Amino acid sequence: MAHDKAVPSETTLHQDERALRTEIVRVCRLMHERGLIAATDGNVSTRLGEEHLLTTPTGVPKGLLREEDLVITDLQGQVVPGGAHDGARPSAELRLHLEAYRLRPDVAAVVHAHPPMTTALTVAGVSLAPCVIPETLVNLGTIATTAYATPTSEQGPQVIRALIGTHDALALDRHGAVTVGQSPMDAYGKMEKVENTAVVLAAARALGQVKILPLDEIRRLVAMRREHLGLSAEAAAPDCARCGACPGFRWND
Ligand SMILES: [Zn+2]
Repeated sequence: MAHDKAVPSETTLHQDERALRTEIVRVCRLMHERGLIAATDGNVSTRLGEEHLLTTPTGVPKGLLREEDLVITDLQGQVVPGGAHDGARPSAELRLHLEAYRLRPDVAAVVHAHPPMTTALTVAGVSLAPCVIPETLVNLGTIATTAYATPTSEQGPQVIRALIGTHDALALDRHGAVTVGQSPMDAYGKMEKVENTAVVLAAARALGQVKILPLDEIRRLVAMRREHLGLSAEAAAPDCARCGACPGFRWND
């Protein structure tokens, strides 16, 4: 069988896979404990070698997930022979992850969650893109919001297609957020930061005023982002087209 070569056998079930299973289960518990998901919501995946993904199954509450519940698929989302126990299936939302991996060879893990304040802001039509919080700007850049897509539908990958190549964190209209990173824990950390940004933004709006960072400070923070993450000038710059809250960022005003 063409697949045999690529299927991890007992002998190739190396430390990496065990460690990744442990890490994904930890991330799922954290998502549940931190209120970033409810019950079976959300999904996590990571690259497993060059041709496979290790991902959460559909229908299992994330707070109760066990390492053996995880599913191994190919890069098209098909479960590989022996890649799942007890008929477990990946989430239909894996489509979103597949699109992120397809467009981001640099990304090793994807997290999708339903953080309530992030979702609430999208329901209210409030953008998370404005440069308001220094740490958000340095670590995540612009948090853009995608168009609406019916959850689990083929629209899911379509609405992130134009954005995920240049954003590590996206709010999904009425459907939480997706983050990408170098490991499940890295992508999870970005999810916490997205929700934290949303909570602060919502609180500031409730208090009456949202002050955008001054342009010279934005320039300083973007330079820090560029240096910390080794990004090009273009990649580090905020996505002003998505924001429009200030006159717009340029390096040399
Ligand atoms: Zn979802």
